[in-house]
Amino acid sequence: MNAIPRTTSPMEEARTPCPVCSRVRPLRALEANASGLQELLQQAFPELGDARERLCASCIEQLASARSALPEDLRDERGKLLPILPLAVRLRATTELSGRGVTIAFLDSGFFPHPDLEKPRARIRHYEEVLRTSPGPHPARVDVSSWHGMMTTVVCAGSGHLSRGLYRGLASEAELVLLKVGTARRIRPQGIEAGLRWVRANHARFGIRIVNVSCGADQPIPWRRDPICLLVEELAREGVLVVCAAGNRGHETRHQVIAPASAPSALTVGGWNDGNRPGMGRARPYHSSYGPTIDGLAKPEIVAPAIWIAAPILPRTVSHELALFLEELDRLPDEKLAPTLRAARFPEPTLTAVESASPAVIRAAIASLQRERKLIGGHYQHVDGTSFAAPIASALCAWVLEARPSASPREVKELLCACAQPLEGLAPERQGFGVVQPRRLLRALGRLEEERPAPPTGVSAS
Ligand SMILES: [Zn+2]
Repeated sequence: MNAIPRTTSPMEEARTPCPVCSRVRPLRALEANASGLQELLQQAFPELGDARERLCASCIEQLASARSALPEDLRDERGKLLPILPLAVRLRATTELSGRGVTIAFLDSGFFPHPDLEKPRARIRHYEEVLRTSPGPHPARVDVSSWHGMMTTVVCAGSGHLSRGLYRGLASEAELVLLKVGTARRIRPQGIEAGLRWVRANHARFGIRIVNVSCGADQPIPWRRDPICLLVEELAREGVLVVCAAGNRGHETRHQVIAPASAPSALTVGGWNDGNRPGMGRARPYHSSYGPTIDGLAKPEIVAPAIWIAAPILPRTVSHELALFLEELDRLPDEKLAPTLRAARFPEPTLTAVESASPAVIRAAIASLQRERKLIGGHYQHVDGTSFAAPIASALCAWVLEARPSASPREVKELLCACAQPLEGLAPERQGFGVVQPRRLLRALGRLEEERPAPPTGVSAS
């Protein structure tokens, strides 16, 4: 389906909004050699068609800069574009900062030494089962409790090792301390309290500056009477910033933010739905919890993407085997599909049902399973929740501390808030200062040159 070439007069051109940011600005054609950028635009804005070829100078510059932080090839082995855009593209983040020299502790139900944390450099400095009396073994065994913490750590600090660098976290050089404070079934307030207490006793030893808590207590308690919130305040005084997920109850009557996210010094992170797109253009809210808290505090302070987040599948689980098998099937030529399916006898009803079907039917079953399980290739899937918004903010806090190691928790928090951008049409109590903006942060930290005004394009924009 080819679009009919359009000819536009210079006057008409001057009134045409940029197809990406919708601002009326002079548009420039993409350079013919910008094939990597075209590929990215094709993936991010498939519906724009030929309109993708002319963007405003600011969009071209920002997207090209984000594009340069990614590997050259955005396609999988079969040349298919990946369905979920990396956060670096959507947030227009670059690699000037990556949390180098900063240690982030995570409190979660469990963890896994995923290749994205172990390669090319092993960055897990310490693992501790906080609720046990003796230190536990490194969690190499497969346990579903490991899944959640593996995802939060990789979203924050993964190297993208299993995705050729594509799904790299923004703090891909940070060091990690992993604290198991519960199980997949439940993380109790006592677990969170014990985890924060452990950090208090050990942060100097490991140089911990940030604690990511993508879990919460059950009941709202005034912060002055809540041991969890009091620990957050004590940690802040000792130079450790606690970054908390706001929770996912924005659609319920009880949408209140609770501990540790309700502590005054915590940086509380809500979610927003960026539609898997770069920029702020087509925002939809996400059902993240919001204040005021029981003490009347406005929470969250900021929001970050909370849906369409690429996260690893727990290795050596049935889900991982299925994802790898579907990826393998998908690559096979038609005539090998049915025989491979029959030989493998994979215990998945959708697949056994099509064992003798035509290649087209088998391929439809593969695609449907991948969609249903939200799979991205053999190693990742896409997930949602403020559990993933918080680690994105934690990564940006690590940027600040990499650039300014002496910054206090309060300064880090204030800088993230000052650099956020409010979402239009979303009530302030749901988003605080708005969406995190890595580029503004880089600029504030002196790591990004001022963006130049649009160069002349030969089009009169009077
Ligand atoms: Zn634009």
